Amino acid sequence: MRKKIVAGNWKMNKNFEEGLALTSEIINIAKDELKNQAILVINPPFIHLNSLQKLIPQNSNIRLGSQNCYHQKSGAFTGETSVDMLKSVGVQYTIIGHSERREYFNETSEQLAQKTKLLLEVGITPIFCCGESLTIRESGKHLEYVAQQITESLFDLSTEDIQKIVIAYEPIWAIGTGKTASSAQAQEMHAYLRTHIAHTYTQEIAENISILYGGSCNPQNAKELFACADIDGGLIGGASLKSRDFITIAQSF
Ligand code: PEP
Repeated sequence: MRKKIVAGNWKMNKNFEEGLALTSEIINIAKDELKNQAILVINPPFIHLNSLQKLIPQNSNIRLGSQNCYHQKSGAFTGETSVDMLKSVGVQYTIIGHSERREYFNETSEQLAQKTKLLLEVGITPIFCCGESLTIRESGKHLEYVAQQITESLFDLSTEDIQKIVIAYEPIWAIGTGKTASSAQAQEMHAYLRTHIAHTYTQEIAENISILYGGSCNPQNAKELFACADIDGGLIGGASLKSRDFITIAQSF
């Protein structure tokens, strides 16, 4: 059985007090109300990670994640954060290749392959983001384009390691726009990516990989999206900043 995951990408939002409050609310509401086995990953800014980890109860289904890591192990890279540092403060998941990082910080497929390997070496699960722009979707080449992103960054991995990856399909035209992909559009892409993985690895391996949907997912549309056969949860931006909305999304399985 693939894991059901709802991951919140806070992006560059929430000061320290606000981050503490949001995390406490998520922990409390999840404890009282969450009735399923979904894993909730909170991905705050780096500066909050160490403190927020201390709030998360040991036996809960809440995990700590980061929004990025550097693609070198250590050294003279002023301002960057290594996978060892993340591991040392209890990070268990790391988002890599978000479209904002690909676009504003020029992240390349090669760097994402390096990040993936470094994360796996220290036992952190990469949440690998992929997705097409509106122009590519309108050209009709979106399926091949996103499959290629996965090929370039992940297909050097061994059969053992590829199964440790979580993929997040995030059409760029749906991120922060209020314009969600329809469940049919999302399911089509997820099924295509799973088949793509099966062709390079095996069907069994492809069936073990959680593929999340991201892009204006909210309490109103999560149920329909999560009901699709190949959608195993969501990567949530805006709606992860409100505890009630985040938990309602997690309750949508
Ligand atoms: C995201 O940035 O990963 C995202 C899915 O954002 P939003 O939910 O706000 O569209």
